[in-house]
Parts: sequence; structure tokens; C-alpha cells
Amino acid sequence: MIRCDNLVKIYKQADLEVVALQGLDLHVRAGELMAIIGNSGSGKSTLLNVLGGLDRPTAGQVTVDGIDLLQISDADLVKYKRETVGFVWQNNARNLIPYLTAQENVELPILLKGRRKRARALELLEAVGLLHRRKNRLSQLSGGEQQRAAIAIALANEPKVLLADEPTGSVDSAMANQILDLFRHLSHSLGLTVVIVTHDPLLAQKVDRVVAIRDGKTSSELIRRKSYAQELQELADGAERGDPDESHIEYAVLDRAGRLQIPSHCLEAVGMKNRNKMRVAIEEGRIVLTPPEPQDDRVS
Ligand code: ADP
Ligand code: MG
Repeated sequence: MIRCDNLVKIYKQADLEVVALQGLDLHVRAGELMAIIGNSGSGKSTLLNVLGGLDRPTAGQVTVDGIDLLQISDADLVKYKRETVGFVWQNNARNLIPYLTAQENVELPILLKGRRKRARALELLEAVGLLHRRKNRLSQLSGGEQQRAAIAIALANEPKVLLADEPTGSVDSAMANQILDLFRHLSHSLGLTVVIVTHDPLLAQKVDRVVAIRDGKTSSELIRRKSYAQELQELADGAERGDPDESHIEYAVLDRAGRLQIPSHCLEAVGMKNRNKMRVAIEEGRIVLTPPEPQDDRVS
């Protein structure tokens, strides 16, 4: 559904250039629910804005549902934003109108007319668990309820991809969990592809794949050993809860030029945090990296 290859985004401000994405690779399967984590300034929002058609990529390749976002015309981009992707932000004031009711807010972006529009709005409110609040003004809803209204709005025109930029950033952890459950439900029931940006590693653990971004590039991936659904089922069946650190396998991402970003916690663990080179050797089919010996420094 999503393919980014060597994706580059440069922001130009007067004489200043900021390389927000520097050759990022990311592939997301249709129907996948995945999370993107990374420090502030690592390029997460830039990536989401490019995927959402809000920002134009500078170079590289990026396609969503086969649509090439580098080549797309302005007119097609408008259509793309309306029909292919839905967007949810941390600050939902961006797509909600406080003095309208929940139902009116959800009806607003729906392209259908009359009765079909109303029926669709009710269906969406039900999907996000807000049917009983449909007649309340947005300003009367809690933060979590407003965020669920924002999700309903993002789904108004049956997008194939839902992009959420820190959607749980301004709600408490119980509500964050509910919102994540909602994303999981939507992805399973509608076959929706969901990409969630979060800085909360605990939240990220609840999806099947977590991609970490560092300095505008994907640096590592955590992939679940068992699907989250499978794990929940086992818990329901009375199995022991596994060690959360054991639930995912960590991969470092290898780019086309053979570059590897080693997760910083691994470097720290072996005392290689501030070194600028490592010894490389092949031992029994493994690539082994070790800190340099003192004599290695003489020939740098
Ligand atoms: P994140 O969401 O991971 O915190 P961002 O994608 O917002 O990171 O930002 C990545 C980098 O790009 C930062 O250095 C940021 O300052 C810069 N940046 C983001 N948006 C703009 C913009 N509109 N103009 C100039 N620089 C920007
Ligand atoms: Mg951001």
C-alpha cells in the first residue's frame, strides 16, 4: 500500500535548507497496523505529511496505493487527499468545529448527499463508539471523545490509508489505549492500512510492527514474534504473560548502499556509543562488530 524508496524531503527557508528526510525506505502492506517512533525532529511528521499529500516530496520515490506522489498533478493531489488518505492529528482542533454537534462535524466532509450522507455519518459515529453523543456539540465532548470524532471524520470518504500523527499525545493513557484499540478494530474490520506516529514506546508495542526513524532515515524495526491478537487470545486462555522485551524481535535496517544504523541502546550496551569506527569480522556466518583495539586508533 505504501512504498517509500530513498525518499528525500528538504525544507527551504530563505538561505537555509533542512533535510528532514534523507533517503528513507519504508514499505507498508495493505491492511497493516504499524507505528513509527523516533525522537523529536527525526522526521516523523514530515513523513506523514508527505504520505498525506500535505507536503511535496523533494526526491526519491513514494507511492501510496499505486499513486506516485512525486509526479502527481495538483488537481489529482486534491482528489488523493480527499479519497485515498484520512488524517488524524494530535491537536484535533485542526479538523473539528467546536460549535457544531458531533454528527454535523462528521457529516461535513462526506461527499455523499442527503439521506446517504446522514446514514454514513451515523455508521461512522457508531464505529468510533460515539453514537450516543451525536447530538452534543464538540465543545461538550472530552478530549478522548473529540479524538474519536476526529477519527470518524478522517474515515468520512472511506480512505484506504489512515495516517495519525501522535493521536494520543493529548489524552491520558487509558484513553490512549482505547484509541489504539479503535485503530486495531478499524484495521481488522475495514482492512484499513493504519500508520501511527507516537513517541510512546509502550503504545508502539501494541502493534505488530514498529519502525524507528532517526535523522530522517528508518533505523530499526521491531517485529512481533506473535501477532498482538494471538497474544491477547493466549492471555485470555490463561497463559503466562511473556516478557514485553521478548515480544518483539529487533532488526536494524540495511539500506541499498549497505549502510546499517545500529540502535543506540546496543552501542551503549557494549561501550561503543561515541566511537566512530568498529572492527568488522565474519565469524561462522555472522558479521561481528567489536570495539576497536587501542592499536587501531593509530592508523585512523
Ligand atoms: P518530528 O515529527 O519527528 O518531531 P518533523 O518531521 O516535524 O519531526 O521535523 C523534522 C525536521 O524538519 C526538523 O529539523 C524540523 O525543524 C524540520 N521541519 C519540519 N517542518 C518544517 C518546515 N515546514 N519548514 C522548515 N523545517 C521544517
Ligand atoms: Mg511531529
